[in-house]
Amino acid sequence: MILKKIKQLSYFISFKVKNIFNRKYRKPLLAGIKITTKCNMKCIHCPFWRDNSSFYMSWDTFQETVVTLYDNGVRILVIEGGEPMLWNDEKYKKDISDAIEFAKKYFFYTAITTNGSINFNNINPDIIFISIESASESYSDIRGDFLESVLSNIKNAKNKKIIINITINSVTYKDVVSTIRALNESVYGFTLQFFYPYQGLADLRLSATRKKNILDDIIELKKQGFKILDSYDALRKMPDNSWRCDDFLVSSVEADGKITNGCYLKNRAVQISCKDCGFFAHCELSLAFQLHPGALCAAKKIFMD
Ligand code: SF4
Ligand code: SF4
Repeated sequence: MILKKIKQLSYFISFKVKNIFNRKYRKPLLAGIKITTKCNMKCIHCPFWRDNSSFYMSWDTFQETVVTLYDNGVRILVIEGGEPMLWNDEKYKKDISDAIEFAKKYFFYTAITTNGSINFNNINPDIIFISIESASESYSDIRGDFLESVLSNIKNAKNKKIIINITINSVTYKDVVSTIRALNESVYGFTLQFFYPYQGLADLRLSATRKKNILDDIIELKKQGFKILDSYDALRKMPDNSWRCDDFLVSSVEADGKITNGCYLKNRAVQISCKDCGFFAHCELSLAFQLHPGALCAAKKIFMD
């Protein structure tokens, strides 16, 4: 275990050192892979169900992509969707647990982002991120009637590192504090994100002032010991996006295997609006790369502890 951590730490240190001496050393560290676009929910802000998209990455493509990402420098993989728990490959009789176990052979950390409505006790990633905007009635305004099953799956989870990822938007922003209070004892922690307005979809964005007010409340909760994993640095810089984005640290993979390096919005948004950026993950990663102590501690807490 200790040897594994030393190996991981030396990779991250040499990554930074190489970058200091060679500005062209621009490799990704983290990748998100959309293993399927199929989902059992119909969230109001989501593009996938609108075009009846139900594309499954093939097992062959998944394996090839994992190897390519690893060779490109990626050491943290997040498997996402759609709903990744629905993924399978009939030809090879593989399901999501096979995909996770395969990825774990390569990456330091393999995580999954799920909507949490399907029991996840049969999978064993390093982290399970569950997307919840609110733990009260307004949940259904965004996602439909799934809250009960999600909360029951969290309650019955066995030995899982569960992190609730809250996307703060104009419908559920009033519930963020109560949601953190309600779920604090049941999960490993919370990460945040602000809604980003994609063209043609419901616009649930918040003003910079409202974002700041909410994050001030969340900073108070963090000071009181609630398990907010985002750093104070990020919590203070996200409302007006006063952080420097090193987006080369991230890669995204579509369900057809196409890899894009850089901002999550590339090839997804018609126009990228950095002033509306709500991606705490990009912010934390950039700040950690720029050696901000709080973001380094947040990365350690999320992945290494
Ligand atoms: S759970 Fe995720 S993929 Fe499914 S509809 Fe909602 S936002 Fe889209
Ligand atoms: S939208 Fe956010 S993540 Fe994308 S380039 Fe702009 S600041 Fe970076």
